[in-house]
Amino acid sequence: MGKSQFDQSLKENVPLAPMTTLGIGGPARFFADAETVETLVEGVEWADGQRLPLFVLGGGSNLVIADSGFPGLVVRVSIRGIETRIEGDSAIVSTGAGEEWEPLVARCVAENWAGFECLSGIPGRVGATPIQNVGAYGQETSGSLVLVEALDLITREFVRLNASECEFGYRTSRFKTRDRDRFVITRVTYRLTAGGKPVVRYPELQHYLADRGIRRASLADVREAVLAIRRRKAMVIDPADPDSRSVGSFFVNPTLTREEFEELKQRADRLGENELPGFETRDGRVKLSAAWLIERAGINRGHVHGNVGTSTKHALAIINRGSGTAREVIQLKQLIQNRVLDAFGIVLTPEPVFVGE
Ligand SMILES: Cc1cc2nc3c(=O)[nH]c(=O)nc-3n(C[C@H](O)[C@H](O)[C@H](O)COP(=O)(O)OP(=O)(O)OC[C@H]3O[C@@H](n4cnc5c(N)ncnc54)[C@H](O)[C@@H]3O)c2cc1C
Repeated sequence: MGKSQFDQSLKENVPLAPMTTLGIGGPARFFADAETVETLVEGVEWADGQRLPLFVLGGGSNLVIADSGFPGLVVRVSIRGIETRIEGDSAIVSTGAGEEWEPLVARCVAENWAGFECLSGIPGRVGATPIQNVGAYGQETSGSLVLVEALDLITREFVRLNASECEFGYRTSRFKTRDRDRFVITRVTYRLTAGGKPVVRYPELQHYLADRGIRRASLADVREAVLAIRRRKAMVIDPADPDSRSVGSFFVNPTLTREEFEELKQRADRLGENELPGFETRDGRVKLSAAWLIERAGINRGHVHGNVGTSTKHALAIINRGSGTAREVIQLKQLIQNRVLDAFGIVLTPEPVFVGE
């Protein structure tokens, strides 16, 4: 009998750092690329048989991998294939979890399908987008998601979860909370609006368009504006820009009740900071700017900590300055959290996933 695709793909001691945007982390003891659902299932069973832990990798853009690497099997989900169809005013887009997110956005904007335009320039693969309900500039993937297809690692069955079953919230979902590491997402289906209007809700985006005299922005205008704004902050991966060797934002923006926000405002006033930014969220809470808190707590852009630091363009991004280690990243994370806690009494929650010891 010939070797299965899993057997052919299985490798030992594979460096993981080059598979991440931060470029940090030791090797995977075992590694396999799953281009099909069958390969994925085989990998899961193999790891089980070997009593090895399993880690599911996408594009590696939201990971801090330990310097010692991962002691089990890393399976990269590389299942591809995009199917589209029009249903009335909707464009239904069903895509393999291994498709790259950014080209998908580019394609949908070019088709004039609304729903992804503000999510331009975000690295990674489709399969990871439901995990933290990827979002930016007033739009979230959950806004257009209709179905997640996944392998349930507990029951070993394939499941189909609709959007409400995914329990989406701000940068979170059941895949990040109560069912963390339970499902391997194989396919995601979205409903976009054919010929729909772009979302221009975020103040920075509104100002950018207004400054250029764009009053009725098209989907393409919004995509270009988002990409330009993101580039200024090194939030688009660019090999020529060392500030983009990051996981994007390292902390989520904290949200407070109105009363908590007013209290914090008084605390900030006492510190001489009388312009605490706060954005009203749709559920009546107030979203703070983690970047503002970090800078006002004394960690500036371009802060250096050994071989890591904060981006010179955005205090919210921790970057690898060349030969950084996960240990240094964790130290800097801790320093930032302590400073913000001391100054404002706010606990910053990290956004990336920490892998290994
Ligand atoms: C420059 C930059 C800018 C960014 N900007 C944003 C932004 O604006 N908004 C935002 O929300 N995020 C942003 N991010 C974070 C990141 O791009 C997203 O979280 C992205 O969805 C991660 O995708 P990935 O494929 O790289 O996942 P990985 O980093 O490989 O994995 C992330 C998590 O998802 C899990 N996972 C991956 N694939 C699957 C799968 N098929 N099934 C189950 N679990 C899976 C992994 O196990 C891990 O827990 C940014 C990152 C960078 C580097």
